[in-house]
Amino acid sequence: MAGRRNGHGERPRIGVLALQGDFREHIQILERLGAEPVEVRRPEDLQGLDGVIIPGGESTAIGNLMVHSGMLDAIRSFFYQGGAVWGTCAGMVLAASATTGPSQPLLGIMSALVERNGFGRQVHSFEADLEVKGFDRPFRGVFIRAPYFEDVGPGVEVLAEIDGRVVAARAGKVLVTAFHPELTDDTRFHEYFLREVCGSDERS
Ligand code: GLN
Repeated sequence: MAGRRNGHGERPRIGVLALQGDFREHIQILERLGAEPVEVRRPEDLQGLDGVIIPGGESTAIGNLMVHSGMLDAIRSFFYQGGAVWGTCAGMVLAASATTGPSQPLLGIMSALVERNGFGRQVHSFEADLEVKGFDRPFRGVFIRAPYFEDVGPGVEVLAEIDGRVVAARAGKVLVTAFHPELTDDTRFHEYFLREVCGSDERS
C-alpha cells in the first residue's frame, strides 16, 4: 500500500471534491493504490479524512459551487486544521492566493500568483515529459487548458516547471499540479500525495 494513515495503520481516507470535473478518475486510482476514496460534496463529508483532492474542471464553476455549498470555507478550515490538499489543474487555480485574471473564488492556501489559462491561450492541450524534483525518471504530464504559477511565495517548493512556469509545487500540506496525473497510468503523484503530503506532520 502506498499510503499510511497518520499513526492508526488504517487505509488513508481521501476525499475527492465531486462538485464538477474529473473526480471519478482520481477515485479509481486511489482505489487501485489501496486508499479509501470518499466523494465530497458537503462540509460534513470532510470528517475523518486525511486529505482532499480538488480535481480538474472549470475553476470558476467549481469555485462558485464551493461558495454555495460552504465547501470553500470548509476546505480552508480542513487545511488549517492539518488536513492535506492536492489541487490538479482547476484545483491548482483554486489553491492559489491570487490570480492574474478577473477575481474568482480562491482557497488561497498556497502563496502563488496563478495564470489560470496560461497554456490554454497557446494550445488547448499537450503532453510533456517533466523532470520532477525527487522523481527518478520523467513524468508524462497531460495538460488541458492548463494554468501555471507565474510567481510563488518563499515557503513554496517548486517541483516542476516548463520554461520557468511553475507546473507542480508543494508547501507543507498542499500540493498542486497543473496537469492531470489521474488521466495517465503513472500513479507516482498519487503515491507521493498519500505518502509524503498526507503522511507528513508538517503544517504550512
Ligand atoms: N484553466 C481551467 C480553469 O481555470 C482549468 C482546466 C482544467 O482543469 N483542465 O478552470
